[in-house]
Amino acid sequence: MIRKFFLIAMIAIAVQAQAQTQRAKMNAFVDGLMKKMTLGEKIGQLNLPGSGDIVTGQAANSDIGKKIENGQLGGLFNIKSVAKIKEVQRVAVEKSRLHIPLLFGMDVIHGYETEFPIPLALSCTWNMNAIERSARIAATEASADGICWTFSPMVDIARDPRWGRIAEGSGEDPYLGSMVARAMVKGYQGDLSKNNNIMACVKHYALYGAAEAGRDYNTTDMSRIRMYNEYLPPYKAAVQAGAGSIMASFNEVDGIPATGNKWLLTEVLRRQWGFKGFVVTDYTGINEMMAHGMGNLPAVSALALKAGVDMDMVGEGFLTTLQQSLKAGKITLQDINNACRLILEAKYKLGLFDNPYKYCDEKRAATEIFTEANLRAAREIAAESFVLLRNKGNILPLKKAGTIAVIGPLADNKENMPGTWSVAADFSKAASLLSGIKAIAGDNVKLLYAKGSNLDADPAFEARAGMFGKALGRDNRPPEEMIKEALETAAGADVIVAALGESAEMTGESSSRSNIEIPQTQKDLLQALIKTGKPVVLVLFTGRPLAIKWESGHVPAILNTWFGGTEAGYAIADVLFGDVNPSGKLTTTWPQNVGQVPLYYAHKNTGRPLGEEKWFEKFRSNYLDVSNDPVYPFGYGLSYTTFTYGDIKLSRTSSKGNQPLTAGITVANTGPYDGKEIVQLYIRDVVGSITRPVKELKGFQKIALKAGESKTVSFTITPDDLKFYNYNLVYDWEPGEFEIMIGPNSKDVKTAKINWTK
Ligand code: BGC
Repeated sequence: MIRKFFLIAMIAIAVQAQAQTQRAKMNAFVDGLMKKMTLGEKIGQLNLPGSGDIVTGQAANSDIGKKIENGQLGGLFNIKSVAKIKEVQRVAVEKSRLHIPLLFGMDVIHGYETEFPIPLALSCTWNMNAIERSARIAATEASADGICWTFSPMVDIARDPRWGRIAEGSGEDPYLGSMVARAMVKGYQGDLSKNNNIMACVKHYALYGAAEAGRDYNTTDMSRIRMYNEYLPPYKAAVQAGAGSIMASFNEVDGIPATGNKWLLTEVLRRQWGFKGFVVTDYTGINEMMAHGMGNLPAVSALALKAGVDMDMVGEGFLTTLQQSLKAGKITLQDINNACRLILEAKYKLGLFDNPYKYCDEKRAATEIFTEANLRAAREIAAESFVLLRNKGNILPLKKAGTIAVIGPLADNKENMPGTWSVAADFSKAASLLSGIKAIAGDNVKLLYAKGSNLDADPAFEARAGMFGKALGRDNRPPEEMIKEALETAAGADVIVAALGESAEMTGESSSRSNIEIPQTQKDLLQALIKTGKPVVLVLFTGRPLAIKWESGHVPAILNTWFGGTEAGYAIADVLFGDVNPSGKLTTTWPQNVGQVPLYYAHKNTGRPLGEEKWFEKFRSNYLDVSNDPVYPFGYGLSYTTFTYGDIKLSRTSSKGNQPLTAGITVANTGPYDGKEIVQLYIRDVVGSITRPVKELKGFQKIALKAGESKTVSFTITPDDLKFYNYNLVYDWEPGEFEIMIGPNSKDVKTAKINWTK
């Protein structure tokens, strides 16, 4: 034992010594370079424009090319292809005075050319290996095409489905969100010395998902207790996983825009969490502080630099005002040096000084992007992200026989399948649902198709919901005529698959909605299809939780497929026909209506909680017109098989100090299919020095059970799982009574109690 400890200690000392030597080497290099740099060149490193007017073969003559030559750029983003990137890098390395290479960034959010499901969908796999693998593949493809930096992961906790960017995060829970954040950073960055890894950029720091009324870019305001316990953990987890950069958010935090908030960017991020990378603004984040009412461009640029921003995305506030602010004594040379150093360090860590073309390997670009293996992974992971919401009468899985009518505006559409933020994707290579069903169903199935309705009756709305080349192919016939055609088509079918919901651009940036239902014209179609009396399967496309109370009461089978990426069409068919048994579970609460929002499982009890199973009681915390329940709770998702839970067995009924506790439960597969189940552990701290949530996710296990098989799942609980930030923002646990809950979702849990003393 002693020998083992000795060995571990020796290894730790050796690793630390090596890190120190590497750090010393980097410092010496950066010191040397910075000594040669003029003030203008240092400020130039802090400037990050978009790819602008660059055309292949003309990089040097473009406006941006001139700036690169003058040392006025630190990097460039959203420029695609090795050829272009190489050409631009050549201008920096051969024509600029100090030959400093550029960083090339991109929004590689849920895949590069091989698109994976949108992040909200990925989180519903609850499978960290799969999530890490998707980031790994994205990094491999992006780095093969010249990119060394991605603006991902987005780890904003979101509890308001009106907010379109809920699609880009991992849902409402800080525990799960932190796990996903770590998995993504690991997947992207791996070992940065290799040329198939890229630097992560954690965003949007901070609280971007808490925008008032779910309106993008809107004000946020919350207590520090809530920040520390509920909203900050995923950013911190990503930082601690070694993320190389972080992006400041557009919103204000505690009355000061994040981009100019020194408490956030320096006190919390650097002093409390020990972040060593660089901070970049979001797109024109500095300039937007003028509209926030923080002063003119020189003032807000100085504010940002002083707060801890190192790189200015797009707005050029740094480039155009910092020299003047230095002269005026508003900032110091040290402020500029600090920021410049961090940018140069990032380039050093990425190996760009050794080889500026490290990521520009045409051979890799030709062989490592959009490969068969990557597509296979995308299909597997997509199928794992779907959530079966309903399956009355076991309509699903479908038989590979008979006649199936596939109906709906999203049935025969490739462009929307990759989802929002598929910047590098070629939409023509994505599989539509119809083509997926065709390929998987086989020759015994006769397929019929009708569009049935447009996405929305209003063409102006549809145009806003079909941006960035994600065509919807509007049909100009009156809605009644389209429904009539759909009913005629459905008449000849044994079963109807209705492909309805949102388009990809109905979520994502600047895509907030005040009505989170399926658009009415599609609902009219669905109601008509239900009236036929034929079995209807709703394949739902969405980037947010939708309010589907009516659908959940009337449509027998609902498979929520989000936006599943390039291979969505095949993956959906894999699940519809039972080649894959669905296992995804929701990471957001699905409300009954928009008025209940924000609705989340880890809420506080209030002083007047509503009694169990009650709808309304006077002078209790509730509504006159709707119960407090969601349609689908956090953690919910069905399988083609059924799982039965036994009772919780605790290893002891009271605990003291650091003694760990084991909570076990037997889960049985009582249905006819092999399947996977996500067994969830929640804890409630019954009495606290501050009010505590009614339950918090503290663990889960995804297990595979063959039909008829059962397994005992056990969780080890330690005082670490009981910790929270108290009124003084000290992270600790308090002795007392705790409820240990285990179940298939956040609502249907078994409960046991324990008294834990210090
Ligand atoms: C978004 C960021 C994104 C950036 C660069 C902004 O509008 O908020 O998430 O990384 O643009 O494309």
